[in-house]
Amino acid sequence: MLKNDTLDSWDRDNFFHPSTHLAQHARGESPSRIITTGSGCHIEDRNGTRLLDAFAGLYCVNVGYGRREISDAIAAQAQELAYYHSYAGHGTEASITLAKMVLDRAPDHMSKVYFGLSGSDANETNIKLVWYYNNILGRPEKKKIISRWRGYHGSGLMTGSLTGLELFHKKFDLPLAQVIHTEAPYFYRREDTSMSEAEFVADCAAKLEAQILDEGPETIAAFIGEPVLGTGGIVPPPEEYWDAIQAVLAKYDILLIADEVVTGFGRLGSMFGSDHYGMRPDIITIAKGLTSAYAPLSGSIISDKVWKVLEQGTDENGPIGHGWTYSAHPIGAAAGVANLKLIDELGLVENAGKTGAYFNAVMREAVGDMAHVGEVRGEGMLCAVEMVKDSEKRQFFDAGEKVGPSIAAALLSEGVIARAMPQGDILGFAPPLCLSQSEADEIAAKTASAIRSVLG
Ligand code: PMP
Repeated sequence: MLKNDTLDSWDRDNFFHPSTHLAQHARGESPSRIITTGSGCHIEDRNGTRLLDAFAGLYCVNVGYGRREISDAIAAQAQELAYYHSYAGHGTEASITLAKMVLDRAPDHMSKVYFGLSGSDANETNIKLVWYYNNILGRPEKKKIISRWRGYHGSGLMTGSLTGLELFHKKFDLPLAQVIHTEAPYFYRREDTSMSEAEFVADCAAKLEAQILDEGPETIAAFIGEPVLGTGGIVPPPEEYWDAIQAVLAKYDILLIADEVVTGFGRLGSMFGSDHYGMRPDIITIAKGLTSAYAPLSGSIISDKVWKVLEQGTDENGPIGHGWTYSAHPIGAAAGVANLKLIDELGLVENAGKTGAYFNAVMREAVGDMAHVGEVRGEGMLCAVEMVKDSEKRQFFDAGEKVGPSIAAALLSEGVIARAMPQGDILGFAPPLCLSQSEADEIAAKTASAIRSVLG
C-alpha cells in the first residue's frame, strides 16, 4: 500500500479535481481526504477517521455504502460480459431489464428510456431531443430553453448554461444564447417580503409568461426544472408552484423537462418528484439514484407524446444521429437493476418519507430558534439550514465571510459531512435514504454545536 504522503504528493502533482480551488489545492493549502471504505451512512478515510455522510456523496449513494447486492451484480456482469454497445438494436439483458424497471416506476404517460452516463449528458440529450422534436414538427425557430436562476442541470456547454449559478458561467463564456433564466421559486429570498406565498407563486408564473411573450412563444421550446431546487440551495417549491408553471407552459405549447437527477427513485418519499408535486413532464432526467452511484449511469425518460414525434423523424432519416459508446453500459445497467430491487426490498422510498420527516423535525428543533438561522426547510430526505446575519431583518452575510463553509468545516471536525451549498450560506443535507432516527438525531445535535462554535 502506498504511503499517505506519497499519495498526497501524487494527488497534488497530477490530479485535476473537479469543483476544487485549483491553485490552492496544487499548493497544498486545501485539504485532501482519501476515502477508503464505507458502510451504510458512514465512510472512512485512510487515517481511519469515520464520518457520517449526511450528503450521500453528492446526494447519490441512496442505498448507502457497502451493499454487496450491488457490488456482486457488478462483478457478475463484468465477468459475464463487461461491454457491448447498444447501437443498431443491440442490447444486453441488464440494459433491457433496467429500461423495463424504470418505466414500471415512472409516471404512466412515459414511454421509453435512453441511457447515458451522467446527469449532465442526460440533459444534453434532452435538449437535443427537444430540438429534433421541433424540427420534425416543422417549427425550426422553436428552440430556446427556459431554466431557473439557481437551477442546476450540469456543467457542460448547454447544461452549464441551463444551470443558473454564476460560478458555472463566469469565465466560461456561458450561458449560450438559446438559454433564458427565470425566477427561482425561492420564497424565503423573495425580493418583496410583503408577498404571501400565493402572491409569490402568481408572480413567478406572471414573470415567466411575460418572458415568453417578450421572446415570442414560437421561439420557446422547453422549460427545465428540478422538482426541488437542489444545488441552488435545497428549496422545495411553494404549494401550487408547479400547477401555476405548468398552466403557462401548456398555454404556449412548451415542453416540460423534469430534472429528477436528485429527486428520482425516492429522495422525496415518492418514487419521483413529478408524482410528489403533480408534474406531468414530457421528459424526465435521471441519474444519481438510478444506481446509487455504484456505477455511472443516467437516463432520459421520454413521454408517449415526444416519442411518437421522434419516431417520425427516424422514418424519414434513418437512425437517430445520437448515441454514446457507453450508452446503457451493461455494468451500469446491472448496478441499476440490483439497486432498484434493493430500494424496493428495503422500503427506502417509504423510509425517505418517514425518517426524512423525522430528520427535518429534529433539525428544526435543534437549530430553528438559533439567532443566525434564517430558515430550516426540506422535503423527504433533503434538508437545508440557511444562515443569516440578522434573521428579523432577513439580512444575509457577505460571501467573503464564508460562514457556510466554516460551519460545514466545524461539522466535519465533529464527524458529520454536510455540504456548504455554492451560493449563499446554506448548509445542505441529503443523507442516504437508509438513514436511521438515531443518525438523524446525531446530525441535528452536531449541526447545532457546529453553528455555536462558529457564530457563538
Ligand atoms: N441535474 C441535477 C438536478 C443535478 O443535481 C446534477 C448534479 N448534481 C446534474 C443534473 C448533473 O449531474 P452530473 O454531475 O452527473 O453530470
